[in-house]
Amino acid sequence: MIFEDYAIFTPGPVKMSEEILQVGAKQTPYFRNSEFSDVTFACENGLLDMVNAPEGSKVIFLTASGTAGMESAVMNLLHKDDNALVVNGGGFGARFVDICATHEIPHTNFKVNNTNLTDIERLAPDDNYTALVVNAHETSVGHLYDLDAMGDYAIKNEMLYIVDAISMLVTDPLDMQQSNIDVVIASSQKGLALPPGLTMVVLSPNALENLQDINSLYFNYKDYLVNGERGQTPYTPAVTIMLQLQARLNQISRRGGVEQSIASAKEVANYFRESIKALPLKEYTPYMPNAMTTLTPTDGKSAMDIVNALEENYKVMVCPNGGAERDVVFRVSHMGEMTKEYTDILIDALHEYYAVVRA
Ligand SMILES: *Cc1c(COP(=O)(O)O)cnc(C)c1O
Repeated sequence: MIFEDYAIFTPGPVKMSEEILQVGAKQTPYFRNSEFSDVTFACENGLLDMVNAPEGSKVIFLTASGTAGMESAVMNLLHKDDNALVVNGGGFGARFVDICATHEIPHTNFKVNNTNLTDIERLAPDDNYTALVVNAHETSVGHLYDLDAMGDYAIKNEMLYIVDAISMLVTDPLDMQQSNIDVVIASSQKGLALPPGLTMVVLSPNALENLQDINSLYFNYKDYLVNGERGQTPYTPAVTIMLQLQARLNQISRRGGVEQSIASAKEVANYFRESIKALPLKEYTPYMPNAMTTLTPTDGKSAMDIVNALEENYKVMVCPNGGAERDVVFRVSHMGEMTKEYTDILIDALHEYYAVVRA
C-alpha cells in the first residue's frame, strides 16, 4: 500500500506536511555534539512554551511510543504509598489502569461515561487520593475532558495531576499553569504530526520534586534530567524525529502560534461536522475535541463496512474501532496537515457512498 495514494484521516499516524517529510528524507546526523544539544534545547523550549509550563519545568525525551510516556510517568511519580484516581472512559483510560496495576500502585478505576467531568467534584468517589491520572482526549471514543475543572479538583485535594495530552496537543487548548497540571505526556504521531517514535514528558517543578528513585534503567527520569542539562539523552534519541519536531515547532510558530493551529483545527472539524449533517450518521459524544470526530451510523449500517468502503472505493482512510464497538463507531481525525479542501475528499466520498448505497 502506498500511503501517498490515500487521503489520510486516521488518528495517528496523521497526515504530515511536505516540509516535515523533507527533514525526514535526509541522513541522520551524529548527535553527541553541541549542534544536536541545541536542537534538544530548542525542542524543549518550544514544547514548554506550547503548554505554558511553569518556570523551571523540564522535558524528558524518550525514544518510544506514547504508552512509554504513560508508563514511565506512573513509574517515576507514583509509589506504593500513593492512591491514584484513574479516569477510565475508554481504551486509553483502561491502559492507565493496567499500568497502575502492573506497577502495583494503589488506584481506583474511575469509569466514566457521557460526562466531560466538569462536575468531577461531585462524581469522583470519596477517598483520600494523592494523584489524578487522565487522558485529556480519550481517543478511543473521541471524548474530551474538562482540564480546568479537574485541575481545580486536584489542587483542592492536593493531588498530583498527570495528563496524557497525546491526542489533543496542537488541536485543542492545554495550559499547564491555568489548569494546574503537573505532568503532560505528548507523543510525536498525533497532533504534532510527526512519525511515531518520540515521546515527551513535561514535568512541572512540583512533579520534579516528587520524582522517585526507581528500579529501571531506561525509564529513569533522573538520568534523563542530568543528561538534559547539556541537551542530551542517556541513550540514542530519535534523532530525525527530534529534527522534525524542531522544524514542526518553527512551522507552528511561523503560522501564528499554537492558538492559530487550534483555531484552524476547530474550523476544519466544524466544517466537516456541518458538511455531513444530512447523512445518516450521528456524533458519538457531545464532548468531541477539535482533534477528531467520532460517528455512529443511524441507518443500521455497520461502521466497519463504511470504513472498508471508503478505503477500497475512494482511497480514503478513516479509523475503525475494535472489539464491541467495531460496528458501532468510526473515527475521523482532524489532526495534522488538514485543510477544508483536503477534508472535502472525505466529505465527497461519504456523500457519494450514501448516494450509491441508496440508488
Ligand atoms: C495514541 C495515544 C497514546 C499512545 O499510544 P502508542 O500506540 O503507545 O503511541 C496514548 N494515549 C492516547 C490518548 C493516545 O491517543
